[in-house]
Amino acid sequence: MLVGHQPKEFLLAVEALTVSFDGFKAVNDLSFYVDENEIRVIIGPNGAGKTTVLDLICGKTKATSGSIQFRGKELTRMRENEIVKTGVGRKFQNPSIYDDLTVFENLEISYPRGRSVFGALTFTRDAAVRDRVHEVAEMIFLKDRLNMNADLLSHGQKQWLEIGMLLIQDPDLLMLDEPVAGMSVSERAKTAELLNRIIKNRSVLVIEHDMKFVEDIAHKVTVLHQGQILSEGTMEKVKNDPKVVEVYLGH
Ligand code: ADP
Ligand code: MG
Repeated sequence: MLVGHQPKEFLLAVEALTVSFDGFKAVNDLSFYVDENEIRVIIGPNGAGKTTVLDLICGKTKATSGSIQFRGKELTRMRENEIVKTGVGRKFQNPSIYDDLTVFENLEISYPRGRSVFGALTFTRDAAVRDRVHEVAEMIFLKDRLNMNADLLSHGQKQWLEIGMLLIQDPDLLMLDEPVAGMSVSERAKTAELLNRIIKNRSVLVIEHDMKFVEDIAHKVTVLHQGQILSEGTMEKVKNDPKVVEVYLGH
């Protein structure tokens, strides 16, 4: 044992992670580490295994082998709902908001005390919930849309609302799969601002293709290719890596 060496504490430590679908390794012996208060972006060509990595972390897909440690807890042995309670929130590509509820109600039902729609709608809207809803609505640029039905929001606003529905649960790790797809240029810039603001208390793991957006947010970039890391480091480093140019950026 090395004297004077403390092992570094990562928020998330993925080690030798592998998932095999009928013999095809969509994620193949993958290891990467995310720090506290870090925005990490995963990029790579279609089919590289990016979404599968998020599926493995949130427990939607079970690993064939390897480990996912979150604050020292092994996630590969936990169920999806236990992983959420441990502090991992995940947004899917298509927003799953309640169209016939207002922005306020969508945020309110996502508040941890009332996870089921039924329970949430009948519980008293006490001051703590209301304050938190207002705080999150401000963060996601929807504070003047609180009473609007969610189906009337723009595509970008719906994406923000879904991020808000995760934020209200105060996760330590927020995972987003292509959050700015379909957004306007100004909505993309605001989303970058939003992510830069929320990492004061948490880390964010984002999959994204929009390179301008990646440059605006990434502390570090992990480039995936065929379920493995092709390159990793600062945006500057990976975008000048000939391997990355060849399999991804050159296209
Ligand atoms: P990316 O998000 O990087 O585009 P995915 O993680 O969605 O890639 O997919 C990686 C590969 O794994 C693809 O070839 C995909 O077809 C395959 N795959 C993903 N999920 C499954 C599954 N549940 N069963 C079989 N194959 C899958
Ligand atoms: Mg994907």
